[in-house]
Amino acid sequence: MAKELMMNDAARQPDMVSVVIPVFNEQGNLDELIRRCIAACDGLQSPYEVILIDDGSRDRSAEIITAASENHKGKIVGILLNRNYGQHSAIMAGFAHVRGEWIVTLDADLQNPPEEISSIVAKMRDGYDVVGTVRQNRQDSFLRTIPSGIVNRIVQKSTGVLMHDYGCMLRGYSREVVQAMLQCPERSTFIPVLANAFAHKVIEIPVGHSERFIGDSKYSFWKLINLQFDLLTSITTFPLRLLSIFGGIISVFGIGLGLLILILRIFWGSEWAAQGVFTLFAILFVLIGAQFVGLGLLGEYIGRIYQDVRDRPRYFVRSIVGRD
Ligand code: UDP
Ligand code: MG
Repeated sequence: MAKELMMNDAARQPDMVSVVIPVFNEQGNLDELIRRCIAACDGLQSPYEVILIDDGSRDRSAEIITAASENHKGKIVGILLNRNYGQHSAIMAGFAHVRGEWIVTLDADLQNPPEEISSIVAKMRDGYDVVGTVRQNRQDSFLRTIPSGIVNRIVQKSTGVLMHDYGCMLRGYSREVVQAMLQCPERSTFIPVLANAFAHKVIEIPVGHSERFIGDSKYSFWKLINLQFDLLTSITTFPLRLLSIFGGIISVFGIGLGLLILILRIFWGSEWAAQGVFTLFAILFVLIGAQFVGLGLLGEYIGRIYQDVRDRPRYFVRSIVGRD
C-alpha cells in the first residue's frame, strides 16, 4: 500500500508546477476550466502540467479529460479512477503522480479562479511550503459557511496553526509536504489539515471566490457530515477526553442531587419524595442521552480505525492518459 503512494522521484522535473484537480460529474465546467488553467499556466514562465483526476464520474467528464489530454499533449494529464472515492482520495491519487516541484490544488467547478495559481506559486518560490488561501466574499449559502466557521475554529485550537479558511481547496504545497502526506496511511484524510502537520513555513493569501459555474455541489448532506467527522477525528482525539470530563461532571451532579433529596426527605417526609420520581426520570433521560452521544463518538473513531486496519487501497487507477 505504502508503495503505491510513493512519488516517482525519477520523473521529477525541476521548477515544474503541477496543478491537481479532482473531477466528479463536472462535464459542463471542464472545457472552461481547462481553457482558463492553460491560459493561467502559460503565463507562469515555467514548465507545468495540469492533472485532472476523474473520480468515477457518471457523465462525460472522463471522455472530455481524455480528449483534452490529446489536444494539449504534455500539458493535460488525466488519471481515471474506476469509481467514486471522494474528493480527498482523488487528490491523493493526483499527488502520487505529480512530477512538479510546486503543487497547486483547486476545484473543478471554477469556484476557485485558476488565475490565482501564479500568486500561489510566487509565494512558494519565496520559500513558503504551504500556501493557504482565504476566500474573499465567499459565494456559499449560510448552511455551508456556519459549519465551516465552527470547523475552522476547532482546527485552529487543536493544531495550533492559525489558518482562517480550511475549506478552500485552492492551495499550494511543496513537493516535500506532498511526499510526507502520501506517506500517511490513514484513510480519513483532510488534506489542508494534514499538510500543516508537515509544513515549515506557512502563509495565507486572499483569493477570489465565485459561484459554481455549472451544476450542483457534489456534497450531499450526509457526505458533508461525514467530511466534518473526518476532519474532526483526523486532527484530535480530544472529544474522547471530553466524554470522560462530561461523565465526571454528571456523576458529581448526581451525587449532589442524591444528597439534596435525602436531606429534603428528612424534612418533608416520604410523601414529598414520591413526587420527586419525575425529577429522577428527567435526570435519567439526560444521562441516557449523554451515553448515546458518547457511544456515537466512540463509534466514529472505531469506524475509522476499522477502515485503517483493513488497509484497503485508497483508490484504484483505471488508466492514465496524456503521459507516455
Ligand atoms: N469531488 C470529487 N469527488 C467527490 C466529490 C467532489 O472529486 O466525491 C470534486 C468536485 O468535482 C469538485 C471538488 O471536488 O472539483 C469540490 O466539490 P464541490 O464543488 O461539489 O464541493 P463544494 O464546493 O460544494 O464544497
Ligand atoms: Mg464547489
